[in-house]
Amino acid sequence: MACRDLSHKFPGQVLFHRSTECGKSERKYWAYQQQVLEPACVFEPAHSDQVAHMIQASQKYRCPFAVKSGGHGAFAGASNIEGGITMSLERLDEIHISDDSSLVTIGMGNIWLDVYERLEARKLAVAGGRYPSVGVGGLSLGGGQSFFASSRGWTCDNIRSYQVVLADCQVIEANETSHPDLHWALRGGGNNFGVVTKITMETFPMMDGKMWGGLRIHSEDQFAQVLHAANNLGNMEADENVNGAQIINFMSVQGKKLAVAILTHSVPEPNPPVMSEYLSIPAIVDTTHIRSLTNMSRELGSSEGQLRNVTHVLKARGTATFALNEDIMTYAKDVCYDTLAELANVENADPNCVFQIITKPQLEASVIKGGNAFDLKVKDGPLFLLNIQVGWTNGGDSQRVQQAAQNALERTISYGRENGWDQEFQYMNYAGEFQDVIASYGKLAKDRLMATAEKYDPKGVFQKLQPGYFKLEGDPSGNRSVFSG
Ligand SMILES: Cc1cc2nc3c(=O)[nH]c(=O)nc-3n(C[C@H](O)[C@H](O)[C@H](O)COP(=O)(O)OP(=O)(O)OC[C@H]3O[C@@H](n4cnc5c(N)ncnc54)[C@H](O)[C@@H]3O)c2cc1C
Repeated sequence: MACRDLSHKFPGQVLFHRSTECGKSERKYWAYQQQVLEPACVFEPAHSDQVAHMIQASQKYRCPFAVKSGGHGAFAGASNIEGGITMSLERLDEIHISDDSSLVTIGMGNIWLDVYERLEARKLAVAGGRYPSVGVGGLSLGGGQSFFASSRGWTCDNIRSYQVVLADCQVIEANETSHPDLHWALRGGGNNFGVVTKITMETFPMMDGKMWGGLRIHSEDQFAQVLHAANNLGNMEADENVNGAQIINFMSVQGKKLAVAILTHSVPEPNPPVMSEYLSIPAIVDTTHIRSLTNMSRELGSSEGQLRNVTHVLKARGTATFALNEDIMTYAKDVCYDTLAELANVENADPNCVFQIITKPQLEASVIKGGNAFDLKVKDGPLFLLNIQVGWTNGGDSQRVQQAAQNALERTISYGRENGWDQEFQYMNYAGEFQDVIASYGKLAKDRLMATAEKYDPKGVFQKLQPGYFKLEGDPSGNRSVFSG
């Protein structure tokens, strides 16, 4: 009935087919668990008032809903829903650069590539996602790691204002002066407070519209050197490095253990000095050069596609955070390859471990920009952010794979704990459905988030009628997390 109501009111914007046939083909779900769900209908609002109407219809008919931006949520129900309304935001595709070029207003149906393409013409950028097809919505509400984190903080730290549709269907702006409590909560608090229809974000100039970066692929005999370089770069203070960024992805391709280091520098100089240690390690493949942000992002997108040339891929992921040091990174890498060996006979099993650093300069930039719901302390940095991701294709293997991913995390966390390196923080954008993310922000931050939700959503619409993803209480699977502090 809710779907019928919406389709009478907004003809042509409600689709009753299977979810897999709806929407633009390139904007399907990243995880097959999400793709196979069958909502009663998919609603594509074109304006915040239409979003408000859906929220009203959902409450009137007690019809649960999910909200989809880029569809990269990694588990069933994150942004699609069986038998309910899936609200797909792709028509909210505004991108408007302010007259003085300092701000950009972005509709939450955009993917980051759309944003970079538009900004590139003006030699501008924002601290957004690195892969082209990831949604502006999920990434920015969960925090957002970018190539520019050390100079700009998290993506959410760069959002000056959110346009939000609340549970009572009001459309409001949340920023430093209007609803500042909600502005803070949306910086990392996820989908718990309302549906965000657009954000206004700080831009910054890119010299000549370019940056330096690319992929460097290393064989197993170079792993120790790679981790040494990662640790040294990650430990640099703000006066040493705010422009360089790194991601290391440990994986196996055709039986060969490989480390794929994604290195970037936001000033377009060849072979930036802060990267000299990395660049002294021989690489099997090296694509680093001076290029645009769009071009860099596209390369990551195509490398993802090439390395995982299978469709209908089920996904599991999980995350943990530690004080940065080489020992914990080496341990995590070894656990990753143990997991790979354990899953050797699982069809198309593709475990990989993504290593990133939350640098001290990133934590400092966050504080300068007003802070966020993570409540991370500069004194605790730099931090090693671990993201374990596994793909596989046979549903019969799901339980085994998910358990293996969870065990790998648990082993690494235990080792970190024994050595006093473990941190409570779980990064929402990399977390698994067994993790209690909001509790990991600490009691103070969680209490503040709960109070904000109670104020703006006293009936708990976004807790009960939108059941998917990381809610304020407990992990999405309904279990208390074994990892919560
Ligand atoms: C290939 C790949 C690359 C990635 N790269 C990065 C990266 O560079 N940096 C990083 O930090 N993370 C990265 N991630 C993680 C990514 O940030 C999360 O998966 C994020 O949730 C994806 O957002 P989405 O909009 O695409 O997903 P969706 O599944 O559409 O959304 C995720 C959650 O956010 C909610 N949501 C989305 N939009 C709104 C809205 N407007 N209002 C209210 N709720 C909303 C959804 O309901 C859902 O619960 C990457 C993930 C993948 C798979």
